[in-house]
Amino acid sequence: MPVNEQRTQSGGAGAPARQCNIAFIGSECYPFVKTGGLGDVMYALPRALIRQGCGVRVIIPLYNCIPQKFKDQMTYRGSFMMDLCQDGRAFYVGIMELVMDGVIYDFIDNREFFDWGNPYTGLWEDIPKYCYFSKASLAVLNYLEWIPDVIHCHDWQAGLVPVYLRARFDGTPVGSARSILTIHNLRFQGICGIQHLKYWTGLPDYLFDYPVFKQSEDEANMFKGGLAYADRVTTVSATYAEEIQTTFYGEGLNGHLWYHRAKLLGIVNGIDVELWNSATDKLLPAPYDAGNVLELKKQNKLALQDKLGLEQDAGKFVIGLVSRLTDQKGLDLVNAVFPELVDENTQVVILGTGDPRYEDAFRFYERENKGSVCAYIQYNEALAHQIYAGADALLVPSLFEPCGLTQLIAMRYGTVPIVRETGGLKDTVQPYNEVNGEGNGFTFDRYEADLLLDAVNRGKAVYLENRGRWDEMVLRDMAKDVSWENSAAQYIDLYRELMDA
Ligand code: ADP
Repeated sequence: MPVNEQRTQSGGAGAPARQCNIAFIGSECYPFVKTGGLGDVMYALPRALIRQGCGVRVIIPLYNCIPQKFKDQMTYRGSFMMDLCQDGRAFYVGIMELVMDGVIYDFIDNREFFDWGNPYTGLWEDIPKYCYFSKASLAVLNYLEWIPDVIHCHDWQAGLVPVYLRARFDGTPVGSARSILTIHNLRFQGICGIQHLKYWTGLPDYLFDYPVFKQSEDEANMFKGGLAYADRVTTVSATYAEEIQTTFYGEGLNGHLWYHRAKLLGIVNGIDVELWNSATDKLLPAPYDAGNVLELKKQNKLALQDKLGLEQDAGKFVIGLVSRLTDQKGLDLVNAVFPELVDENTQVVILGTGDPRYEDAFRFYERENKGSVCAYIQYNEALAHQIYAGADALLVPSLFEPCGLTQLIAMRYGTVPIVRETGGLKDTVQPYNEVNGEGNGFTFDRYEADLLLDAVNRGKAVYLENRGRWDEMVLRDMAKDVSWENSAAQYIDLYRELMDA
């Protein structure tokens, strides 16, 4: 039996009996490394599970880009060599550990794979990197003698875990675990040539046929294989779970997902309400709660305008956009109507990085509208907090949105979301009802620029002409439960169902 598949070696962080023990495996986790919502979920859901009595271990790569202050807190837990490739090529697996607020984080150390990227590079390097990571994660659980009831894998980077679990680790201690694969974003799937994946996984030929990895004559798809082998597949909202079974949203895997629909379930994300708390947020010039939001939000707005070089006027309607700048986020719609979004009563603040065509377009609009538009082309955690607090509305007009966190954060900060009715945006933002004043935000359905503009204008009209109604919505949004508690309980039900099966 190869070293990585041995039953156990030394180590041993024993688990209390009958506790529900879950291993999280994914490619990013706040505060160590985050490029988007996956990083938030890998941080917040384990903490919520621990509050509800589960034991959780989070396994992520020890990327070079993880800040030194965290590396300094890690302790060495052991190392071994693991065979990986078709030709038996073996790699070093080191384990560095850090415990934070009851969650154990195990970082897999291998400089050959994890010294590059931020944390991703390009598929050519990322495919071998995450083949290695998926197999090493299971080997690490055996090595540490910490055998979870359920292994909860996230996105394509951990997509091979359910396959390795059955094809290589059956009969080893970790083989008793069940697996869940969560789709945070189906657009990214880990697709490469069949021979490339065969080489790097070392997995047997029978897996490279259509039911598992194969997706075209010469292409293999890591996510597709994981979805086939996982005991359950979840995604991050009920609407997205339905949408991905259709051609438009299915990214080529709609048929595969429809075939596996009996094990597919949508559980909406929450946010960490301690991390995102406007009353204790140290990054805000004027922290506030529901009791003083109407007054103090103005101060945050004035400070934001000052910081970004916008005309300082608390009466302006400030629209924020905090986003990766990719076509997924509906930026073609924003571009199409941008000149009409801005007027003498309205300012727009954009924070994001990504596709140069959007970065350049927003820089152009900033130049054209000095004092009314700011395009901050950066990833900047502190400014994101200040925009959530200082803006009146947050724009999320996505083409597709598995769940979306920014609209949840916005509501928690009393900032009214303007969203397209897709995926989790549809499930979390109840449209404003002009008749009775109920709702959480302004919405539009079809992916059309005029409809986006109409939604913004409807919001602006309520803000400027019916402030009482607007303020009620601000308070209603702040009171809305966007925490993880409810969703974590649904995950625990799913874990228990698998444990009892
Ligand atoms: P996705 O995962 O598709 O990028 P989500 O809405 O699920 O979108 O999560 C986005 C997360 O990343 C939020 O926490 C948001 O505040 C953060 N974020 C996005 N862009 C930036 C940025 N430029 N600077 C700081 N935070 C950002």
